[in-house]
Amino acid sequence: MIPVTKPFLPDRKKLDAYIDGIYEREWLTNNGPLAQELTRRLESYLGVENLLLVANGTLALQIAYRVLGLHETAAGEPAEAITTPFTFVATPSSLGWDGIQPVFADIDAQTWCLDPEAIAAKISPRTTGIVPVHVYGNACDVEAIDQIAEQHDLKVVYDAAHAFGVNYKGESLLKWGDAATLSFHATKVFHTIEGGAIIFKRKDDLEKAKALINFGITGPDSITALGINAKMNEFQAAMGLCVLDEMDTNLAQRGKVWQRYHEAFAGTATLQQRPPQLTNNFAYFPVVAEQLDDASQLFESLKAEGVMARRYFYPSLDGLEFLNNEASCFNAQKIARQVLCLPVYYSMSEADVEHVIAAFENGVKNARSA
Ligand SMILES: *Cc1c(COP(=O)(O)O)cnc(C)c1O
Repeated sequence: MIPVTKPFLPDRKKLDAYIDGIYEREWLTNNGPLAQELTRRLESYLGVENLLLVANGTLALQIAYRVLGLHETAAGEPAEAITTPFTFVATPSSLGWDGIQPVFADIDAQTWCLDPEAIAAKISPRTTGIVPVHVYGNACDVEAIDQIAEQHDLKVVYDAAHAFGVNYKGESLLKWGDAATLSFHATKVFHTIEGGAIIFKRKDDLEKAKALINFGITGPDSITALGINAKMNEFQAAMGLCVLDEMDTNLAQRGKVWQRYHEAFAGTATLQQRPPQLTNNFAYFPVVAEQLDDASQLFESLKAEGVMARRYFYPSLDGLEFLNNEASCFNAQKIARQVLCLPVYYSMSEADVEHVIAAFENGVKNARSA
């Protein structure tokens, strides 16, 4: 089977050397030297400031909501945040878990990111924020979202779990919003096994978050806020430092796979429209066979040929009943039904890439004639 992804495993000797250091220092967690080093190196690599490492990407979202006050309305009513149904379930479930009602707005049919007009239409007196997703590393319409947020005095938390290292107009995409969050889960393009980070626009928000990820403790005898445990440990940071060292080869290999798919499918299938001036981290290759209203049969025929695609992100989340919504987002429903993500990982062979392309083309033909 060709899997949809494989985690990047860095040089073992280097990782062992970091672990030797952890054993010598006997400092395993609580903002240790490796976590500090990874923080500095990521800020420099990404070209950002105010980066805080956390235990995973879901906690990154939750800490950002807390720090920015998404969970409270001025009138003390239950809060709402506007988000996209076309994402991994952690985006809206983290809101719901924090008592913030996710309100789904539809995506743009071409970029598959939130449509700014749809966001504006969903704003209510209970809305405290917007949680857009740079889905598959594409950029949301950040300028329009910025303007809406300013007009209505809303906070913006970008779920940038897919946008590690992506630059827009020459600067990190992660600089947009009051905060942007990253996931460093093993399946992501950069990882720390489990892990994540928050990039805050303002330094005082970073300082608040530092206390929140450590139980609200701000000094030896002072606990000043409601906190949680969201700290990254030294073993995670060691993995991150090693993966970061090999980012260039990782991206170059992924890039080759991505470009080959692009060449094969640009004329025959529907691809996500990306704005110019946006760099690519080659994290995902999503593709839609426009002639198929539903990708399930194509998924099965790929599987029969040894290709594990993924139905990222099916189903569209506006239909999840436990989130108190009803399916209403037409574009998201349609794309979620149709889209497949093809295998992309750094060690993927050229022969495997060609096999996936041929299997996809066969699958589309067979599904049409069925
Ligand atoms: C992976 C992912 C998350 C969750 O990150 P974890 O590190 O697994 O908690 C959140 N949002 C999106 C869009 C993701 O892809």
